[in-house]
Amino acid sequence: MARDLEEYLRPEVQTTPFCPGCGHGILMGLLLRAVDELALDMDRVLFVSGIGCAAWIPSPHFNADTLHTLHGRAIPFATGAKLFNPELTTIVVSGDGDLTSIGGNHLIHAARRNIDLTVICANNMIYGMTGGQVASTSPLGALTSTTMEGNIYRPFDLCKLVKAAGAAYVARFSVTQPLSVISAIKKGINTEGFSFIEVLSPCPIQFGRRNRLDTPAAIVERLHEQCISLEEAGVLSPEELEDRIITGEFVHGGA
Ligand code: SF4
Repeated sequence: MARDLEEYLRPEVQTTPFCPGCGHGILMGLLLRAVDELALDMDRVLFVSGIGCAAWIPSPHFNADTLHTLHGRAIPFATGAKLFNPELTTIVVSGDGDLTSIGGNHLIHAARRNIDLTVICANNMIYGMTGGQVASTSPLGALTSTTMEGNIYRPFDLCKLVKAAGAAYVARFSVTQPLSVISAIKKGINTEGFSFIEVLSPCPIQFGRRNRLDTPAAIVERLHEQCISLEEAGVLSPEELEDRIITGEFVHGGA
């Protein structure tokens, strides 16, 4: 972590729990850069997370109020805090399994109610911390500890889901697009209403090693190849879009 961001970290926390090559460490740095560029007062920011590897991004690292909650329940806790103190900048950071599988119903209804939260979903396409089980975001055919012959279900398109439910700001980028991630987080925080930023964050340990992406470099390179902008996607056929991941801003809200 660069020294200029140290003020945002609790001094007693010296290391992160993330495996080498995990995208969550990159996302942690990008989130803090967005906070820094917005010059947010950390005493007026609340970070809320659920359970799983990504839930460790804010807690215990960030030198702010952090709530590390129950599995799938980060959004309800954040909603309660925001209702109690509307002045709080309330940012939820958690994983795809936590926010969109176990907590999926809360995600849909928070978007429908357009509650003024910023939700950052670190999507590693698998349950990382609990053993590499299939998630609602695992790609078709993905090998996981519970789909050893390949996932037979198509994954959720999380951005389409929250867009349909009424979110005010929706974007998807990969940790391989760091400036776009920072910009999207800033816009999400500045948008009044429900903001959802999906950040593709590679998991070399649980996802990569099961899917012939055995090194951090291999899984990052694969992600880089798969990501395609909205503009590029617009001229491709459905067949050409198979296996690609469209990145960009899908709902602009008032940002
Ligand atoms: S299991 Fe995967 S998501 Fe969890 S810390 Fe390790 S690399 Fe990251």
